[in-house]
Amino acid sequence: MTADSFDHQKLSNRILLAMFLGLAFGLLLNWTIADQAWVQSFIIDGVLAVTGEIFVRFLSMLVVPLVFVSLIAGVSALSDPKRLGRVGGKAIGLYMATTGIAITLALVAAVLIEPGVGANPVDVVEREISAQPSFAQVLVDMVPRNPVAAMASGDMLPIIVFAILMGLSIALAGEPGQRIGQMFSDFNEVIMRLVGFVMLLAPYGVFALIASLGATTGWETFVGVLKYVILVLVMLVVHATVSYSLILKMLTGLSPRIFFSKMRGVLAFAFSTASSGATIPVTLKTVENRLGADNKVASFTVPLGATINMDGTAIMQGIAAGFIAQYFGVDLSLTQYLMIVLMVIMASVGAAGVPGVGLILLAGVLASVGLPAEGIALILGVDRLLDMTRTAVNVTGDAMVTVVVADSEGELDRDVFNDIGRPRR
Ligand code: ASP
Repeated sequence: MTADSFDHQKLSNRILLAMFLGLAFGLLLNWTIADQAWVQSFIIDGVLAVTGEIFVRFLSMLVVPLVFVSLIAGVSALSDPKRLGRVGGKAIGLYMATTGIAITLALVAAVLIEPGVGANPVDVVEREISAQPSFAQVLVDMVPRNPVAAMASGDMLPIIVFAILMGLSIALAGEPGQRIGQMFSDFNEVIMRLVGFVMLLAPYGVFALIASLGATTGWETFVGVLKYVILVLVMLVVHATVSYSLILKMLTGLSPRIFFSKMRGVLAFAFSTASSGATIPVTLKTVENRLGADNKVASFTVPLGATINMDGTAIMQGIAAGFIAQYFGVDLSLTQYLMIVLMVIMASVGAAGVPGVGLILLAGVLASVGLPAEGIALILGVDRLLDMTRTAVNVTGDAMVTVVVADSEGELDRDVFNDIGRPRR
């Protein structure tokens, strides 16, 4: 085992420990002195908020340069540009298929368990829900009018399109292309090092993020919609452990146990930041260095997945739609269920992987089948916890599909994947 992977393992353990300590500290505050003014202003809104925010900013800071540079390095290294089409086709096909499975599981669970029947909701809060862009608009917006503007606003799909075109041009531009390609590949190494630095801050950032959640969320919020919360959590776990393990095993023969054990660090990042976009640097580093996927595939499939693949979000949306329909006593027809499936898949393509976006998109899903958007207010109070958990599932899906596609292209180093290293003490 390499020094790098051992350090990584130590770091993941420290991050997990930070999560538990953060939760314990947050809950302790919540149950004891959280309502005192100085605790609120110095600890919760002070040290914890600032540390958490700085950490998330460091991660976000890396996303655009990393995706841009790493994607250009990956695409320009593809000797055969046709392969890019194949990798893209496989990745998009698998992303859609897993989201389809996720939403179907969610709807079946919502129909069978009926979480909304007899629900005693928490206070209904008004909230502005912004409209979601149409699918046609999503397609048009994929082509950047100005790549610099797309980077400045962090719009992932146009950045991906531009970087792929740049990479292809570099690959086809002969000797000058080779020189520039080499520069991007060196640049990529440098940025990966930077990712490593930022990850050293992770235990502190994760501690702060989880502690402030624990300190500010009241148990009462959860009680009214407990059945909904539990059902979403259970289905998220089922999808991640059963569906992903089966797909991974069937398509690659690789061990799901090893896969999940190496994903622990990434899951902790996704969970505490609730953003698959901000987690991209960590996901990319892990699928390349620990799971053995080559940069040529991963640099493309990971950022793409963070943008278009949201299985966890689909599960929440399916169960929420069922919950809200049941709460308002609406009987959905089969056509309406199919409509929900379609809308959820399309919504996950158009959405950026940032905190809370799934709930906003839910408004569009509800509107498509005539359910009242006010229903969202019922589940607003508990969304943060679910957001964190579904984001962890979203990134697991991205990594799993990356491993499958890389393996099918002969770009997965199985020795790296199977290297579980020194047993942990
Ligand atoms: N926070 C999720 C993500 O970044 C999206 C969502 O709100 O469901 O993947």
